[in-house]
Amino acid sequence: MGRESREYIMNKKVHHWIRPEIQKLSAYHVPAPGKMIKLDAMENPYHLPEDIKNKWLDVLRDVELNRYPDPSARSLTEQLRVAMDVPADAKIILGNGSDELIQIICMAVAEKDRVVLSVEPSFVMYKMIATYTDMEYVGVPLEEDFSLNEIALLNAIDVQEPAVIFLAYPNNPTGNLFDEAVIEKVIAAAPGLVVIDEAYHAFAEKSFIAKVMNYDNVVVMRTVSKLGLAGLRLGLLAGSAEWLNEFDKVRLPYNINVLTQATAEFALAHKEIFDNQTAEIRKERTGLFNALNNIDGLEVFPSSANFILFRTPKGKVDAIFAGLKEEGVLIKNLNPAGGHLQDCLRVTVGKPEENAAFLAALKNALT
Ligand SMILES: *Cc1c(COP(=O)(O)O)cnc(C)c1O
Repeated sequence: MGRESREYIMNKKVHHWIRPEIQKLSAYHVPAPGKMIKLDAMENPYHLPEDIKNKWLDVLRDVELNRYPDPSARSLTEQLRVAMDVPADAKIILGNGSDELIQIICMAVAEKDRVVLSVEPSFVMYKMIATYTDMEYVGVPLEEDFSLNEIALLNAIDVQEPAVIFLAYPNNPTGNLFDEAVIEKVIAAAPGLVVIDEAYHAFAEKSFIAKVMNYDNVVVMRTVSKLGLAGLRLGLLAGSAEWLNEFDKVRLPYNINVLTQATAEFALAHKEIFDNQTAEIRKERTGLFNALNNIDGLEVFPSSANFILFRTPKGKVDAIFAGLKEEGVLIKNLNPAGGHLQDCLRVTVGKPEENAAFLAALKNALT
């Protein structure tokens, strides 16, 4: 060690051993919410009603924290099968959020020079996890209206031969559902697996889950996060046993902890609460969309999710975002992503009073 400082030696070692692709990444940044009105992360704004909360606490009291969880979460899995309309012949595996399922899929197929393909802009974790698992990521740009570019996509599939294609349905951060016929062509052309990520299913009219077993290369992913249980970390993958048995080998045995299993089972037994909340959010989405559409200078994109993407007048987006923050409203600034997201902001649909506060702050920030 001698005269070289600990800091110098540490940096040298870290620099030597941590993979260059990882060193180049910036850590996933989530701003601290503080006391802000939080409309940045697609969370359901509602908690459980007080009487239900007390019943939930009764359930938690008896959870055996001293025991390992059921490694395959059998009873929760069967409850989820019913709640999420998973066909009887499909296998299900659960993840610590669907983020973990993306990681499991990538770990199982990862080999140097293999390609993970998605569209741009879409959910950033596809690219991040492809990088973590040492694969190439290819993002095919969407059209200007955020629909699939069929020719570019089919060409990229032909050239890149991706191991996995991720398609978010509806897409994040754009909110739209892609054309089903084009997705069918992607599935037919894909040499590997196609993952349909239905994180926002509760707010969309459409799904691939009923026909997941009609294909030999499709799995459907769901999560309870956007439904109102983001804190639980619980996602679901459904599809043929041939694929899922292999993914299950990569899954850590106790990835769904006892508190999550007990709470999710309790929540699904009271599913009507979440159904009512998501119906309320869909109603609010329509009101928020119309209100945004009535503001001069904004371009508002139709949404089948619980958030709305809109484009602000050229060059003003950072000031508008800062103005909203100053008034205590936190949304998502997508301008740094560039491309078609230039000048764009994304707002999560909140409670009526939160949406009203957001609209008032936005009007101030625009003047
Ligand atoms: C939020 C989101 C997820 C992550 O869900 P978790 O289950 O909370 O990990 C997955 N896919 C998309 C498209 C999302 O927007």
